[in-house]
Amino acid sequence: AGLVETVDPYDLEGTMEGFQRAKDFPGLSVVIARQPCVIKARRSGTRPRAFQVSDECQGCRICVEYGCPAIEFEGEMAKINNLCTGCGICAQICPSSAILEVER
Ligand code: SF4
Ligand code: SF4
Repeated sequence: AGLVETVDPYDLEGTMEGFQRAKDFPGLSVVIARQPCVIKARRSGTRPRAFQVSDECQGCRICVEYGCPAIEFEGEMAKINNLCTGCGICAQICPSSAILEVER
């Protein structure tokens, strides 16, 4: 029998654990990442969560190196532009907890 892991790709730690279990499994393994397609969600008018960089940003660039096209640098600080789909991964990897969800 194989292994099926279902993960929430917006939960970085849980997703990495799911992939690790799949990798360690000796037989066939499948990982299902369960979240709506962001393109479809945008077209249907679903408003994603929004994130912004606070003054706590230390300019370490870890969030930029992650590679999300919605993160830019302005001066010495990161800045999130309107390409952001609200996944929240940058907030989970920022070592200074400088990326916060915007309350609506
Ligand atoms: S990871 Fe956090 S502290 Fe580092 S540049 Fe990005 S927002 Fe700033
Ligand atoms: S929340 Fe997701 S999409 Fe938005 S800037 Fe952070 S990593 Fe990029």
